[in-house]
Amino acid sequence: MSGLSFKTEMQFAYGEPSEMAPGVHRLVAPNASPLTFKGTNTYLVGMGSLAVIDPGPEDQTHLDAILKAAAGRPITHILATHAHRDHVDGLDALRAKTGAKTYAFPHTARQAPRSAGIVGSEYTNHDFPLDVALAHGSRIEGEDWQLTALHTPGHAPDHLCFTLNGTGVVFCGDHVMAWNTTVVAPPEGRMSDYMRSLELLLARDDELMLPGHGGRITAPRRTVKAYLLHRRWRDQAILEAVRNGTDTVRKLIPVIYRDLDKNVVGAATVSLRAHVEHLAERGLAACDDTSSIDATIVAL
Ligand SMILES: [Zn+2]
Repeated sequence: MSGLSFKTEMQFAYGEPSEMAPGVHRLVAPNASPLTFKGTNTYLVGMGSLAVIDPGPEDQTHLDAILKAAAGRPITHILATHAHRDHVDGLDALRAKTGAKTYAFPHTARQAPRSAGIVGSEYTNHDFPLDVALAHGSRIEGEDWQLTALHTPGHAPDHLCFTLNGTGVVFCGDHVMAWNTTVVAPPEGRMSDYMRSLELLLARDDELMLPGHGGRITAPRRTVKAYLLHRRWRDQAILEAVRNGTDTVRKLIPVIYRDLDKNVVGAATVSLRAHVEHLAERGLAACDDTSSIDATIVAL
């Protein structure tokens, strides 16, 4: 057993901001799907001038909802946790409306090799206008708030979490979510990076995590630890299945994921590839082509 319990209830109404912490409001974009849950969460930070974290998809009603929630306060900063379309496609329009500066991990680092499928341009937008390139530890300051960027690659190479300094709040994007596990899709997504980035959060003492999809996470360390154990457990389960003769990703799918919803077979497949790659990197298994779901995997 993986021992994970997902929190799939979420109190919200589309278009209505809800307060998550003092000076932090969440709006849910109307782009619900099997991969985005109820939709992308957009956060407004501040009491005076505002930062918007993840403007969300390109959607006029969501843009209007963000501007309405700002209630006349200037939006001076737009931050992106990562360049997936459901987080940044709405950035251009919000920037044009507000004149805010945009902040994210830089373009160059975002141009990792892309393959077809879940991490192709269908999912990633490398072309949004970036005013300020962030690195691990960068600080972004507004009138009454200060955020620090934490580089947390794994789900995407450019993924950042943002801590709201002095509050115990961390905006964790798609790195950790309560409603489901994060998709780690090679080649952009890397399981070794992902697990290292979980360890980075585990070493912190945050009080509240606000993810890119789904409800707030009120026990950050416990949740992060459970996800880390889940990944280690899955590595082990795969290794064991390979030792027992289930020797390709295609054959592993029904063994590792029983009763899989057909909407998420694609996500499960790439996740398996990420684990096989992780096992190969550590010399526990060998596979000539981790990008092929029919390549033979050998336990070492
Ligand atoms: Zn997302």
